[in-house]
Amino acid sequence: SVILAIESSCDETSVAICNNGKITANVIANQTIHENYGGVIPELASRVHQQNIVPVIQQALIDAKVNKKELDAVAFTRGPGLLGSLLVGVSFAKSFALALDLPLISVNHMHAHILAHFIDDPKPSFPFLCLTVSGGHTQIVLVKDYFDMEIVGETLDDAAGEAFDKTAKILNLPYPGGPLIDKHAKLGNPLAFKFGEPQIKDLNYSFSGLKTSILYFIRKQELENPDFIIENLDDICASVQHSIVYILLNKVKKAAKQYGIKDIAIAGGVSANSGLRAELTRLAEELDWKVYIPAFEYCTDNAAMIAIAGYHKYLKKDFVGQDVSPMSRMEF
Ligand code: ATP
Ligand code: MG
Ligand code: FE
Repeated sequence: SVILAIESSCDETSVAICNNGKITANVIANQTIHENYGGVIPELASRVHQQNIVPVIQQALIDAKVNKKELDAVAFTRGPGLLGSLLVGVSFAKSFALALDLPLISVNHMHAHILAHFIDDPKPSFPFLCLTVSGGHTQIVLVKDYFDMEIVGETLDDAAGEAFDKTAKILNLPYPGGPLIDKHAKLGNPLAFKFGEPQIKDLNYSFSGLKTSILYFIRKQELENPDFIIENLDDICASVQHSIVYILLNKVKKAAKQYGIKDIAIAGGVSANSGLRAELTRLAEELDWKVYIPAFEYCTDNAAMIAIAGYHKYLKKDFVGQDVSPMSRMEF
């Protein structure tokens, strides 16, 4: 089967092609316009998707050396995400499928982040636990099968990616700040400053308190030294990253114990974080876990993960009709 997949849930316009379960193209157009605003502006994102979608489709077909007449299905992200952004991808997928008389496959973006682990070897075996950490979500998911997943823990307020991005904003770093914090953290001392761990029950998370305590800490330091941020940027970043990673993995340890599962995966944009990857690798040794860390290109938003999810739905002939519409909030 040859499946073309479209991802447009946030600010990446991406198209991928999956040929019999192998990804043969994964084109991603990033939107840089939002850097000037300190966050994604939905109206602008939607407009840039409209400009990008046709050239990105064309490039994917070229990369995969596929003619559109050879396609067997069109997969797309239905949600969750920004409605205006999703609309561009969903509308395009529908018209494309209608014009070429192809079946349509609807994909949940959060399932796809997890299913990115089935693109390359080694692939996890079921059941496994996945920590999905992205710009809008922080979830511990019990993955029983490709589309049989259960959220066993999640954030009660901010997502881990938001914690990174909002901290970066406090530190005057441009959006999205996660990757920049990671970069500075590599040069700093993770134990230089201490930020408290939230006391949340069960397997849930909370990150809004951390952001506030970082803000108050910085403001207080700046009363004595106005250059505190500039002079201590690496140490602040290393300490913040250390705190976030510690909070994230503590609950994963708890979940692993509770469910008696030692196959642990991470997914989503924050799974690109070098501190998280290193600490998970260390825990694998310590606790005899088998860990799955995605390739960098499959951490943040990409259509390859939509394509692989689409492929597994194609095998089940799980199609949707032309009456499908995007959902900004979508049931897991
Ligand atoms: P969602 O998937 O929840 O709808 P999203 O699609 O916007 O949200 P992703 O593209 O999966 O999120 O991830 C983007 C997030 O990942 C941003 O918050 C970004 O700062 C963060 N991120 C990316 N790379 C890193 C890194 N190296 N360290 C920390 N955070 C990172
Ligand atoms: Mg993005
Ligand atoms: Fe995402």
